[in-house]
Amino acid sequence: MAFSSGKPIPHPVETLCHRPWELAVKPFQVSPRTWYVSGQKWVGAYLIDTGEGLILIDTGIAESLYLMLDSIYRLGYRMENIKKILLSHAHLDHFGGAASLHALTGAPLYMSREDAEFMKNCPAETELPHDLWHVQHIHVDRYYDEFNPVCLGDIAVRTILTPGHTPGCTSFFWEEKNPETGDIYTVAMHGGVGANTMNDDYYKKSAFLTPDLRDRFIADAEKMKAIHVDIALPSHPNQIEILDRAGTYTHLTQPYLDNSVWPDFIDERVRQVKALMK
Ligand SMILES: [Zn+2]
Repeated sequence: MAFSSGKPIPHPVETLCHRPWELAVKPFQVSPRTWYVSGQKWVGAYLIDTGEGLILIDTGIAESLYLMLDSIYRLGYRMENIKKILLSHAHLDHFGGAASLHALTGAPLYMSREDAEFMKNCPAETELPHDLWHVQHIHVDRYYDEFNPVCLGDIAVRTILTPGHTPGCTSFFWEEKNPETGDIYTVAMHGGVGANTMNDDYYKKSAFLTPDLRDRFIADAEKMKAIHVDIALPSHPNQIEILDRAGTYTHLTQPYLDNSVWPDFIDERVRQVKALMK
């Protein structure tokens, strides 16, 4: 199955804030050890079972947190099984549930140093749109280090700084073994590709983001594409269509296994950024 993007959701922020149940989706497996658990269709979140506890990537917002908790319980896990919470970037739709999850689990919150600074210095841009959702501020416990993966059980999540959408956007790469076939897959989630913050209109108003972030995003794209990824996961499911196969996963069928998706996805996102450049 080649790369395709998902259907856009009309007014996703308003809907998620006021009527999150309209975007509800049950948890589903995407790879041998990873489940989609955000509980909603707009912002992704993933739970990795490391064999010695869980790693959670991203948290959605406070208003949709009950859907994520329901997803995690449905899979048979408990909140105290979550040992590390990794945040892809400092936009509230990804970290808005992190304060509550930290309180529920005691798990440290990880973010890049660059985005922790962005969050601290620029709430006007990291918490947008303020008038809609409930903002819970967070304290970042650990910064990512590209030379030291985030390890738990037999999973090591390698982090790569991928600036562009934000200064400290971070992408995640880890390996999982198929228990049926013994095959090893590289699973990845790109930290953020939205062109909404990579265009001249945004830079004119921004107090923090500058066009060199866009240049860096485009320049880094070749390097990112060259990384072999077997299972590519989106930070928003409309970036890479995955909801269409929700609930169909088996170790033998591997509905998300396709190493052409990652480079095609990066190409498509660079094309979208360049289209706004004129
Ligand atoms: Zn974002």
